[in-house]
Amino acid sequence: MEGVRALFGRRYTSRFPAEPAVVPEGFRGIPRFDAGGCIGCGACATVCPAKDIEINDEIRDGGAIRRLTIHYDDCIFCAQCARNCPTGKGVVMTREFDLATDDRNRLRESVEKELVCCELCHEPFAARDHLLWIARRVGTAAYTNPTLMLTLLNDISPGASMVPEKGEGPARSDRIRVLCPKCRRVATLEFSMEK
Ligand code: SF4
Ligand code: SF4
Repeated sequence: MEGVRALFGRRYTSRFPAEPAVVPEGFRGIPRFDAGGCIGCGACATVCPAKDIEINDEIRDGGAIRRLTIHYDDCIFCAQCARNCPTGKGVVMTREFDLATDDRNRLRESVEKELVCCELCHEPFAARDHLLWIARRVGTAAYTNPTLMLTLLNDISPGASMVPEKGEGPARSDRIRVLCPKCRRVATLEFSMEK
């Protein structure tokens, strides 16, 4: 009797993969990076309980790069990475769930961020976008920290001379020197916080 009922009753299964499956609102599919929203801080890798977000810092072409890679074959779709991302948009949970593939390269996704290197030891120590994000969050307090201040000023006017030629007026580097009030005003007010 049950067999006859099942034969003529409504279907309880979906036709996936012949037809796309409709997943409910709030469904946690795979997380994806957003290069524009990511600042390369690495918080997602720290909180990931499955330890499936890999961070590789590389010296490359005279600069340094941080590459973050999510390995979907280890991901448990818990969304801790997205919840703890400080920008709230560096990694987002999608509603994608179909990971069936015979190409393992499809099971990972990376984002790359430029790293800033120490001017003394030359070791990379933070992503440039991370420093800029902090500098803009703290506002004028960024000017109390030379690393934040110089990273911010370099972003505002890239390529501007950090070391003035002899006889030239104040440059950015002069802001962390002993200056007379007049030169201090010029060196400070030449650059604004606005991008
Ligand atoms: S900004 Fe977000 S996605 Fe990017 S590294 Fe930090 S926590 Fe991860
Ligand atoms: S969803 Fe969870 S397991 Fe997957 S990458 Fe994010 S934190 Fe790690």
